Amino acid sequence: MKKFMYVIFEKENSLSERDGYVKFNEESPVRYEIMIEGEKYGKRTGFGPRVAPIMASVIRNQNKVLNTLKKNPQNPRIEINDEELKELERLAKKHGAGVIGYTKISEQLVFKNKAVLHPNAIVLSFEMQKDKIDTAPSVKCLHEVLRTYDDLGIVSNKIAKFLRRKGFSAHAGHPLMGAALYPPMAQSAGIAWLGYSGIMISPEFGPRFRLAAVFTSIENFPEAEVNEQSWISDYCNKCRKCIKECPGNAILDQAIEHPNGRITHVENTKCMPHFINEYGCSICIKVCPFNNIDYYKLKENFEKKFETY
Ligand code: SF4
Ligand code: SF4
Repeated sequence: MKKFMYVIFEKENSLSERDGYVKFNEESPVRYEIMIEGEKYGKRTGFGPRVAPIMASVIRNQNKVLNTLKKNPQNPRIEINDEELKELERLAKKHGAGVIGYTKISEQLVFKNKAVLHPNAIVLSFEMQKDKIDTAPSVKCLHEVLRTYDDLGIVSNKIAKFLRRKGFSAHAGHPLMGAALYPPMAQSAGIAWLGYSGIMISPEFGPRFRLAAVFTSIENFPEAEVNEQSWISDYCNKCRKCIKECPGNAILDQAIEHPNGRITHVENTKCMPHFINEYGCSICIKVCPFNNIDYYKLKENFEKKFETY
């Protein structure tokens, strides 16, 4: 698998040498190569032959992201009409996507050595089933996480194909090893907010979802003007449950704010031994109140208690 990964890295990095792409800059984050770094941390419980078929599909779709770029039209359309937008959203939902948002991406959200074809992004969320996440850490939970990554990678490629058929240009983004940082994109698209666990939280799915994106030539998406979930930061500040329950003490009590505005909540080197050796861990998702109590109920109770909103 490692060999395939390096082939993909090479193909991905070559995009940043092409003209017309949105490329990384000196403020761009370095992507944490979980599929390579994980090998340093021991027995990799649960990541054995049982997940091999899912991982094979993940790699197939990561390759597809790159191999289908040559199918983009030379002079793509740049405006989508209402009917086409509805069709796009119907297609995404039919294949399991949850809430969809739209935003523009800046160079500093593109990972080091990477590039995306367009600044206009469709942000896709995909729910992980609660009954499976609630068993974390377990093989059932790990399979649910990986299944979500795989299904989301498939939807992302399907949307890119749909857009090309309509005359637009598109660059699908896989949820595992995307070319850009998805959480700030989801936040600016107004569909979720970054929790203290480093995981995005949304009204629909709490912390129980994964993200991907499709970058496209479409310039007239209905972008969100505000993000109504910003109150989650205040809630996290009072809660801190994930910080207390994280078995690796990996969640920072004080998040690191980088000069480019990016925020780091989790120390990867402390999380990884648990993630890799305990079936993808996911305890921080399981214990989060947003996984267990309705978003609007939590908001109402929080507002009553602190009278801040
Ligand atoms: S996955 Fe586990 S170890 Fe990693 S941050 Fe979450 S709770 Fe901590
Ligand atoms: S467990 Fe609490 S502090 Fe952590 S992300 Fe969820 S709400 Fe925020």
